[in-house]
Amino acid sequence: MSDKIESGEAIHALFGGTFDPIHYGHLKPVEALAQEVGLNRITLLPNHVPPHRPQPEANTQQRLEMVKLAVAGNPLFAVDERELHRLAPSYTIDTLEEIRREQGEEIPLAFIIGQDSLLTLHYWHRWQALLDYCHLLVCARPGYTDKLDTPELERWLEQHRTTNIDDLKQQANGLIYLAHTPLLDISATDIRQRKHNGVSLDDLLPPSVQQYIEQQGLYR
Ligand code: ATP
Repeated sequence: MSDKIESGEAIHALFGGTFDPIHYGHLKPVEALAQEVGLNRITLLPNHVPPHRPQPEANTQQRLEMVKLAVAGNPLFAVDERELHRLAPSYTIDTLEEIRREQGEEIPLAFIIGQDSLLTLHYWHRWQALLDYCHLLVCARPGYTDKLDTPELERWLEQHRTTNIDDLKQQANGLIYLAHTPLLDISATDIRQRKHNGVSLDDLLPPSVQQYIEQQGLYR
């Protein structure tokens, strides 16, 4: 699957998350990433029951609605609900396998993660097989460095890392790219905490999502 493609194709990227709620720390880095590497589409994949995380505060429907509101009218983004419709916890690798089957072997596919997720990637189910289906694009995140604590992860990163954007288009999968995206010190945990404490959420997430949070009485 990682054979060279004759003419470089635009990359379809997937971005999974709990999105409890979705915020500018998700949206702005991936928009910048789209410019940096030439992504033609970013598909947001809200997680159903994330295997390594506590349960979200907002329910599935609410998280999905917030994701849809956040990207409404923006042609760069699409929303894929498949993980939300699964009854059992789903792993990223299963979704990637499925999407790769649907899209065929030629198209460059990428999965976007934040720097914090890279540091704990070795806890993900079949983490080393992720690159059999896609590239990994890593967005910078404040407070997290490039230094990996685990030698196994460090070696894997060195083996697969590229700094050449063209490689990401010439190959369908198999590479890791650490992007130079803007640093936004925003987390969903902090947003929920602020809301619990009655502190303003201005500038942390799109107004439409903020209005929805108010209207639904979320994170009180
Ligand atoms: P929480 O605070 O509840 O853990 P979160 O803000 O980290 O949530 P998630 O939905 O868990 O958001 O994150 C989805 C993906 O987005 C992850 O790969 C994460 O690394 C990335 N991400 C989240 N916030 C940022 C940010 N501020 N900068 C860069 N990447 C981010």
